[in-house]
Amino acid sequence: MYDLVIRNGLLITAEGALDADLGISDAQIAALGLGLHGKRFIDAAGCYVIPGGVDPHVHLQMPLAGLVSTDSFRSGSVAAACGGTTTFIDFVTPGAGEPLLAALAARKAEAQGEVAIDFGLHMTVPTWHATEEQRLLEVPEVVAAGCATFKMYQAYDGVMLDDVALLRALAAVADAGGRVVLHSETGPVIDVLRADALAEGHIEPIWHEYTRPAQLEATAIHRAAELADLTGCPLFIFHVGCAESIAEIVAAHDRGIDIHGETCPQYLLLSAEEHLGGAQGALFICAPPLRDPEDQEALWRALANDELQVVSTDHCPWTRAEKTRRDFAQVPGGVPGIEARLSLVHHFGVNRGLLSLERWVQVCSTNAASWMGLTTKGRLAPGYDADVVIFDPAREKTISPATLHEAAGWTPYNGFSVFGWPRTVLLRGQMIVENEEYIGAPGDGRFVKREA
Ligand SMILES: [Zn+2]
Repeated sequence: MYDLVIRNGLLITAEGALDADLGISDAQIAALGLGLHGKRFIDAAGCYVIPGGVDPHVHLQMPLAGLVSTDSFRSGSVAAACGGTTTFIDFVTPGAGEPLLAALAARKAEAQGEVAIDFGLHMTVPTWHATEEQRLLEVPEVVAAGCATFKMYQAYDGVMLDDVALLRALAAVADAGGRVVLHSETGPVIDVLRADALAEGHIEPIWHEYTRPAQLEATAIHRAAELADLTGCPLFIFHVGCAESIAEIVAAHDRGIDIHGETCPQYLLLSAEEHLGGAQGALFICAPPLRDPEDQEALWRALANDELQVVSTDHCPWTRAEKTRRDFAQVPGGVPGIEARLSLVHHFGVNRGLLSLERWVQVCSTNAASWMGLTTKGRLAPGYDADVVIFDPAREKTISPATLHEAAGWTPYNGFSVFGWPRTVLLRGQMIVENEEYIGAPGDGRFVKREA
């Protein structure tokens, strides 16, 4: 007798589809089978039953240049839950000279008691850390604290690592058994292109795209892959947005390098033409920038062919007012998207025949859980956390700020109609979304230690 049995649904696992009941006991998946007996039942007739979504790349209440990204841990995690995501990974950004463990503890404390779903944190390796040998000695204790992934940047003043600093940091992380997630763009060259454009009076949003050419994304990946190879550090490329970058990842992988990558709904579904939408154009500024329709096709193919393994959101929301600036270079980067991810990938991937149902589950949940060291997440299998989504593939929804729980007040997917939306969401066996209503409480989610 299980605590809870979900019956009549079609279970979609990373391995395939299965007409079976799902038995849950003690907050864990206990059994997949027919005719399971439970103290309680949920009827999932006509629905898919899938592992809760894992979004390994979000920025909630992130400070940036005097602003703070619009979704708090509270609002952002509620939005994620309503969209079928049950685990997210956010970031620790240590201040100048701040010990990494102290920064980790402070960021954890911000989230705990607030979050609706489980979470992990990536440790950002800032420039001062990677260049001071003493500082890199802290890396093993960060890994031991359950923070096995380190965020590094090849762009942006203040966090940008040159190749020497990147090499040292990759080596330190590899020695500690950790892994690296990377923002790959050739920052120093982009900085010159941006300054030149501004000096010539080009301030329109489209210049954000013109000054971050695809080749500079791809060459950064090429260099990072070689450095990762020299150090033996597993490497995960964040927010891949163009065909050139996919080609570099595939080529590096073919050379035997341990490299994987993600893309995001904005790169799969939007193009740089959005920047030409007058006053709206600045809203879509994110880095790397949106590209061309041909890149979108290449990204869908790469997801289907396992050249890219994950769809995250890089959710980084700002209000319209915050996005309105005199020139493109002053606009805070990032777009919202934490809530609609599963539905967008389902509708535009599965419903268009570009992804199978099991590939949808892999890229939205299983693969991120596995690469990021979330050993109890991302699978419908006995012993895994009972993070479960009952997803109604026939539910039609037109996306707008009013239909979402995100706080930005706008969405890049406004007016998109999708078939398929999460109906009910369980976090470790506890119902937190019922019939599309959030019914959880702040602090339902906990910090999850991730293993190296
Ligand atoms: Zn990001």
